[in-house]
Amino acid sequence: MALAALRARLEQAAVAAGRAADEIELLPITKFFPASDVLILHGLGISAFGESREQEASAKIAEVNRNLSVEQNASPIRWHMVGRIQRNKARAVARWAYAAHSVDNAKLVAALSRGAVQALDEGVRTAPVRVYVQVSLDGDERRGGVDVGRPQLVDELCAAVHDAAGLELVGLMGIPPLNWDAEEAFARLAAEHARVQEGYSHRLGLSAGMSGDLEAAVKHGSTCVRVGTALLGPRPLTSPAVVTPVTPSSQTPPITRASEGSRDEHTA
Ligand SMILES: *Cc1c(COP(=O)(O)O)cnc(C)c1O
Repeated sequence: MALAALRARLEQAAVAAGRAADEIELLPITKFFPASDVLILHGLGISAFGESREQEASAKIAEVNRNLSVEQNASPIRWHMVGRIQRNKARAVARWAYAAHSVDNAKLVAALSRGAVQALDEGVRTAPVRVYVQVSLDGDERRGGVDVGRPQLVDELCAAVHDAAGLELVGLMGIPPLNWDAEEAFARLAAEHARVQEGYSHRLGLSAGMSGDLEAAVKHGSTCVRVGTALLGPRPLTSPAVVTPVTPSSQTPPITRASEGSRDEHTA
């Protein structure tokens, strides 16, 4: 089935990179897929999922929780926000997100911090929001991320997250720019990760790699691969408005070896 194939693929990538597979988190991205798919994967032992849009996530989480609460001993789910966060959605995200992978500006940090503090006060959450600072490898800010060519800005934002109440800096995140060689992109990201790491005594993670490029990301130190298509199959593209412009694979889902028939297999 798709999950076993994906785990084997990640294991192979780790071995090829001379790394241990268990130091790389496999985060399934369930955007555009229904709560029922989350419940199936949860039943297979997966307890963390990534979403990219606040409204879709909130609705899905509520539905998943309604179904989980009737089960006994259901392990709690950790939800990761991997998409860009509009500032007016920060408060809502801070109520459900275990981690946020795409934080890239100071105003968002302030809004997330306020939301997290409130959620902690109300007991809606019990731990800080784990934050990855997103860096942009080509400086195209429309696609998100702090320009990697401006290290001082990266440092300032990381420090802002580190100092913010209710937030915890856990690492960097990056996505290869369109038409870039993935190896080159992740090598650049790894260099920035190493540079930023020098300023912190706790180990920083690296959220990098998706269905089409996880091998290159693992080779360059990824500690969390965010995989949608290779696990769940192509996303239903209903309207261009709901397509998150992150990578070619999210605009035109590729039919890769790993994703062939995966949608049927994992529900079988
Ligand atoms: C959709 C998405 C993914 C998963 O992409 P696939 O190519 O389907 O694996 C990973 N990261 C982010 C930020 C996404 O929006």
